[in-house]
Amino acid sequence: MKSNSSTDVIIIGAGHNGLVCATYLAKAGLSVRVLEARDCIGGAAVTEEFHPGFRNSVYSYSVSLLHPKVIADLDLEAHGLEILERPAGSLSLLPNDHMQLTRDSEQAKKEIARFSKRDAQRIEQFEDQIAVVARALRSLAIKAPPNFGGGWRSLLPFLQSGRQLHQLDRQHRIVLTELMTKSLGDYLDAWFEGDALKGLLGFEGVIGNFADPYQQGTAYVLLHHAFGEVKGREGAWGIARGGMGAISDAIARSAISRGVIIETGAPVARIISDKGSARGVVTQDGREYFAPIVSANIHPQILLTKLMERQGLTDDDNRRIDAYRSHSATFRMNVALSELPKFSSLRPDDDFHFKGAIELCPSLSYMQHAYREAKHDGWTRKPIISMQIPSTQDPTLTPKGGHVASLFCQHFQRYLPNDENWDTIKESVADTVISAIDEHAPNFKSAIVGRQIKTPLDIERDLNMVGGDIFHGALHLDQFHAMRPIPGLADHRMPIKGVYLCGSGAHPGGGVSGLPGHNAAREILRDR
Ligand SMILES: Cc1cc2nc3c(=O)[nH]c(=O)nc-3n(C[C@H](O)[C@H](O)[C@H](O)COP(=O)(O)OP(=O)(O)OC[C@H]3O[C@@H](n4cnc5c(N)ncnc54)[C@H](O)[C@@H]3O)c2cc1C
Repeated sequence: MKSNSSTDVIIIGAGHNGLVCATYLAKAGLSVRVLEARDCIGGAAVTEEFHPGFRNSVYSYSVSLLHPKVIADLDLEAHGLEILERPAGSLSLLPNDHMQLTRDSEQAKKEIARFSKRDAQRIEQFEDQIAVVARALRSLAIKAPPNFGGGWRSLLPFLQSGRQLHQLDRQHRIVLTELMTKSLGDYLDAWFEGDALKGLLGFEGVIGNFADPYQQGTAYVLLHHAFGEVKGREGAWGIARGGMGAISDAIARSAISRGVIIETGAPVARIISDKGSARGVVTQDGREYFAPIVSANIHPQILLTKLMERQGLTDDDNRRIDAYRSHSATFRMNVALSELPKFSSLRPDDDFHFKGAIELCPSLSYMQHAYREAKHDGWTRKPIISMQIPSTQDPTLTPKGGHVASLFCQHFQRYLPNDENWDTIKESVADTVISAIDEHAPNFKSAIVGRQIKTPLDIERDLNMVGGDIFHGALHLDQFHAMRPIPGLADHRMPIKGVYLCGSGAHPGGGVSGLPGHNAAREILRDR
């Protein structure tokens, strides 16, 4: 079956970044067609009914990075988006105790002082320093990075990046350098003495990041997670009413209102090119679509090596893209609950903590053990877990009285030793995760009426995310900014003229930010 439909632009993939890119281009007057492999839009930002009557954000579950400019430019609120802030901050589960840090700084200081008076005196300065540096970097996230070897055109962004960082005073430039070079563990040890506080702060550093907390260069992840905001409150996290799918739906509505055509069930197999320029794409079942511009929302390795069949890549490019690392080592579960968990260290009438994140990451040594065990055995029996129960703020997700919890677990490698297979072991691994929470809330296991498991293999298969990497490639310093996905291809332009990368494998990387889509659209429009 062949079709000769022609538009100005084809977007491969209806993840939120593909939809953002499509909408900006349509807003600028271009005709745009989006081709999505799955039978639904949204990629990792989707809401599904995973158990009869119980809906949840199946993969990504928490909002902070979605950029306010994208929300405003694409009229997402007018198209139904509502973000609810999570006021409770984080609750860390400890052996026979807990640490609750809300967004009220006086409460947080008092709570930290229960463990260490010195840490309580230091926390404000620690957070202020990170916030100042994150603010300076924030403006770099909304621009395409400079491209190594890109000629005169790449000089301006290089100079602009330098000027941005130059605005930091001497003290904060030192902080930035420390964050870029030190390990997470060394950085936190230099500030604090309490294990619980370091575990809670360190948790931010392992989200989607398979690394030893004492590995050099891991401290900067503290910055990545301070980039975000909810309704102007820096560093805050929230949820979308109706789940993460509501974000993708709002963007899609905005896109459709501007004439974008979205087709699902259309996996693209190859980019058609002629004399080094894009002409269109062909789907796995042989449908052809024509356009001089193709913007890909997909993992960069798949784009460059499969869909583009390595056209235009030098030997160095080939070596680098083959070595591009994708291993966030993430295991995700959704559970349907008949009642809320009752944490033994909290008063039964205390339910404020449900409106925040509940973490199992009691210390840096716990994190280090989890990493080492997973490195050796494929996955850790003592998982790092973040739990959110969005139904405590959004009753539209469940039947009356029921709840849904997202469990986001770290240090589960995509490839297991001894040819073990995720499909065979997933149920018993899920039991281990449940038991780890049950140790702190003994009614948890019995409250579960349904569960959905997403192993790293499931994440890879469902979403075409290489290695099950939730960010389309590790956010390590050597795969960051002008190095993402590889040096020379950081400004969204791929080696076939007219082909662009608009997904999380481009700067500024993963997370539901809309920024790779926004930045790619701007470069596409610049080239016209
Ligand atoms: C388990 C998990 C938890 C996460 N938690 C959070 C969180 O709480 N907060 C946060 O901000 N971020 C989180 N993230 C990261 C964030 O969700 C992703 O970085 C982001 O959604 C990626 O968006 P994207 O549009 O770049 O790509 P994707 O969402 O991956 O979309 C790519 C789309 O392209 C489609 N596609 C792939 N190949 C083809 C093809 N050949 N032809 C056509 N279509 C194709 C895919 O089906 C998919 O729909 C999480 C991710 C996962 C997986």
